[in-house]
Amino acid sequence: MVFILNPGVKQERVDKFVKDWESKGFSTILSVGTEHTAVCLIGNTAQVDIDHEVHTNDIVSYGKRITEQYKAVNRTVRNDSTVIRVADGVSVGEGFFTVISGPCSVESEEQILQIAANVKKSGARILRGGAFKPRTSPYAFQGMQAEGLELLKSARKETGLPIISEIMNQTQIELFEDVDIVQIGARNMQNFDLLKAVGSLKKPILLKRGLANTIDELLMSAEYIVASGNPNVILCERGIRTFETLTRNTLDLSAVVLLKQKSHLPVIADPSHSAGIRSLVAPLSKAILAVGADGIMIESHNNPSEALCDGAQSLDLEQFDALMQELKVWAGIEKKLI
Ligand code: PEP
Ligand code: MN
Repeated sequence: MVFILNPGVKQERVDKFVKDWESKGFSTILSVGTEHTAVCLIGNTAQVDIDHEVHTNDIVSYGKRITEQYKAVNRTVRNDSTVIRVADGVSVGEGFFTVISGPCSVESEEQILQIAANVKKSGARILRGGAFKPRTSPYAFQGMQAEGLELLKSARKETGLPIISEIMNQTQIELFEDVDIVQIGARNMQNFDLLKAVGSLKKPILLKRGLANTIDELLMSAEYIVASGNPNVILCERGIRTFETLTRNTLDLSAVVLLKQKSHLPVIADPSHSAGIRSLVAPLSKAILAVGADGIMIESHNNPSEALCDGAQSLDLEQFDALMQELKVWAGIEKKLI
């Protein structure tokens, strides 16, 4: 971490600044330029609040971190990329392009069984289905809740596909005991108590990027989970809120690339919530594959026009199948499509 001091600061104040940091256990390097003096702190600066220093110490002009605050998820701590085993023969990480698909919400046994059988046939390796739904309106369908999770488990039994579903708060942890991947949704990305709670689990956690969160904030949230004891975190770019109104969100493809550069964790993307429009899902899926993501999560439905949630962005089962056939060709060049 480097602090640049204001021009013309008296030497005794610089000396005191340096001494104060050294008394807190940091080493310092002082660099005196023609106008500015820079003080470089060496040590564990994770707990140093730069803004506090800049705004409360009148000799500090600005400060900058040189190393990131996230440590455990940082690529610098691991050369090889993390591959997360989800179930027998199903992994997410480098060398695979894992497709997760299913409805936004589990709506009935018939619905989830039909979707599960079809997406499996098309090549999806993990079944998604929301049971607890974070809806903007309290009057909208809130999901089938615990019953929805049971139906997902029935679909797993029928198809053998591992299942993923979104948890909304810590009180639901026990209900997710037999769910293969626990999803933290965009709205909960910075629910730190929930992050710590899933950090105590052993199973994979899919952490979605918040609607208005930076890449570093997503990595800090992943750090919460890993620092709490669970290293099995999959990151998911799902579009961010921008000034654009024609799409539901804006898919940030740079984030997929940067996340993979900055972290050893697997990175997938969700074109459905990014776009909000069915016709964009296939082209965005190919773009996600092309930039090097480790997988994709696509909403699919047996009857999108009657879906209780997110029908406009859901592919019908034929469309999903057609996309999978295309992705297999695209992915075949360098990745194993699983
Ligand atoms: C979802 O995947 O069903 C969902 C609600 O996504 P997000 O949290 O990205 O909005
Ligand atoms: Mn949805």
